[in-house]
Amino acid sequence: MNSTVYVHTAKLLNNVSAIKRRLNNNVKFMAVVKDDAYGHGLTQTANRLESSVDWFCVARVDEGVLLRKSGIKCPILVFECPTHQTSTLFRDYHLTATLTHRSTFDILEDGTEYQINIDSGMRRLGVLPEEASEVAELVSKYPKLTCTGIYTHFAKSDDPGNPEVAYQLKKFNEVRPLFDAQLLTHTANTGAIFHYPDHDLQFDAVRPGVSLYGYGAGEHVIDDLEPAIEWKSFLMQVKPIKKGESVSYGWRWQAPTDGYIAAVPTGYAAGIPRLLSSSIEYAINGERFEQAGTVSMDYSMVFLREKQFNVGTEVTLLGGKAMHAKEWADKAQTISYEITTRLHPAIKREFLD
Ligand SMILES: *Cc1c(COP(=O)(O)O)cnc(C)c1O
Repeated sequence: MNSTVYVHTAKLLNNVSAIKRRLNNNVKFMAVVKDDAYGHGLTQTANRLESSVDWFCVARVDEGVLLRKSGIKCPILVFECPTHQTSTLFRDYHLTATLTHRSTFDILEDGTEYQINIDSGMRRLGVLPEEASEVAELVSKYPKLTCTGIYTHFAKSDDPGNPEVAYQLKKFNEVRPLFDAQLLTHTANTGAIFHYPDHDLQFDAVRPGVSLYGYGAGEHVIDDLEPAIEWKSFLMQVKPIKKGESVSYGWRWQAPTDGYIAAVPTGYAAGIPRLLSSSIEYAINGERFEQAGTVSMDYSMVFLREKQFNVGTEVTLLGGKAMHAKEWADKAQTISYEITTRLHPAIKREFLD
């Protein structure tokens, strides 16, 4: 794909430490590596994190299967609803399923472990509070299935001080006593861990995702987190350009001075939002240069001013705190999560250990 995503293992592990500094004693660490570890590379990321965490969480059962096939031994929780098509995979690969509705009891195969997702307000997946007592009674009627945990998910924890977090927590706490006290209980995503230290929501375990990769959940940048990736491409062609000459589709950008313009063989198909055309910068030898003109499918142009860099010169699109994915996210009216998960899976992920 003419670019490489480098992942710094040391930064991932520093982010794990930053998260652990916020945890109460004996709180287990369930690392969320769904969606190709937020674009970082599922099996490589999990492999580097396994000795520092207690669990992995994935969105889909196929991701759990990939983790098992790559040799991951620790417990794995799958968030999605199990189906008759996927139910044997949970048992065969020893993946912990999520019970999202009473119908899940009849879908899971004997010998499967599961955890109960309580929908305390997200209104996505999970058992509604008013159905919780019925589900609690059914647990003992399915003795060939093993319930190991109960959890919920916050809708607004990225926003510090939001009263809805306390509201969801209250809903969850109301139904929690219906179930066995021993079950592994967890609620906290990144926002809850970082923005709600004064709320009693860590229970037995936490489920951080985006913070592992170095990003905060909301508008706030968290100083001791650092983005683990660097996304690098190179100058494929360099040519002179005169003041006032236009570049790329629509000729929406004109050179402000005479200088050099270069084509970087990475465009929106690889994951640069086209919306960001002419509004971001790339780094070359530590110096920032403006991305010039409409981002196209396979190319984006960069204005080198008076610098005639050689073809092949390395270009950093994203990297560390200096070239922060949040900068792109803010300009594209999205969140860092979407920037990193949009990095095309065919781009090589190279881990720097
Ligand atoms: C994605 C997800 C998380 C992790 O959320 P972050 O905001 O990335 O920390 C935790 N729990 C569930 C159920 C999720 O879907």
